Amino acid sequence: MNDVLDVFKDKIQSLEYKLGYTFKNKNLLLASITHRSFVAEYSKKIPDYEVLEFLGDAVLSLIVSEILIKEFPRAREGELSQIRSAVISEAYLSKLAKDLNLHDYILISKGERIQKGTERESLLCDVFEAVFGAIYIDSDFSIEKPREIFLKYFKDRLINDIKTESIPKDFKSLLQIETQKIYGSVPQYRLISAEGPEHDKVFTVECKIDSIKTLGKGKSKKEAETQAAKEAYLKIKSE
Ligand code: MN
Repeated sequence: MNDVLDVFKDKIQSLEYKLGYTFKNKNLLLASITHRSFVAEYSKKIPDYEVLEFLGDAVLSLIVSEILIKEFPRAREGELSQIRSAVISEAYLSKLAKDLNLHDYILISKGERIQKGTERESLLCDVFEAVFGAIYIDSDFSIEKPREIFLKYFKDRLINDIKTESIPKDFKSLLQIETQKIYGSVPQYRLISAEGPEHDKVFTVECKIDSIKTLGKGKSKKEAETQAAKEAYLKIKSE
């Protein structure tokens, strides 16, 4: 594995500098920027970011929850969850990832790169999550370092974006709140199709609630669901 680290030494150093954090285990940082398309293409067996992403998702959720309850001590649980899910959405986290220039570090296959894979919201968000998951593991499963780094870079911006309502709305949770009020039930999502080549799939999802049916398209299932939820939400609101 050390010869692999050697190959990516500059990238790793530059990202550590950017984060203001030096990894004890550089393999963790390398894994956090490695997409599985790169692993398939690379000559040596290296881990991808998927497990770190899974963990980082929870790490960011905790950090954001802390910021919210401190900053908005009078907000109710429903309001807090709605803001939190808008913050930890692909749409918003991918913006924060761009702030860190994470697209310059991501390792993806040549095919993905040609298709501008590093600009995809879902990929940027995944890597952002994975980097925070990696810092969490590297600092012996302590939230302190990830929290410190997140606060340093994003706290002021986050609070400002919430206050000025500049966070992309999370239509799935908005729709759910609305349909629970009106119909006493939640929308159902169903994957209709996933078309196109592996690196450039387009997903179509149907959202169904009572007699309302809408379709949404996107580069990920989540993106398609959000799009379908938005259509349904606007429909309900206009009726
Ligand atoms: Mn993700």
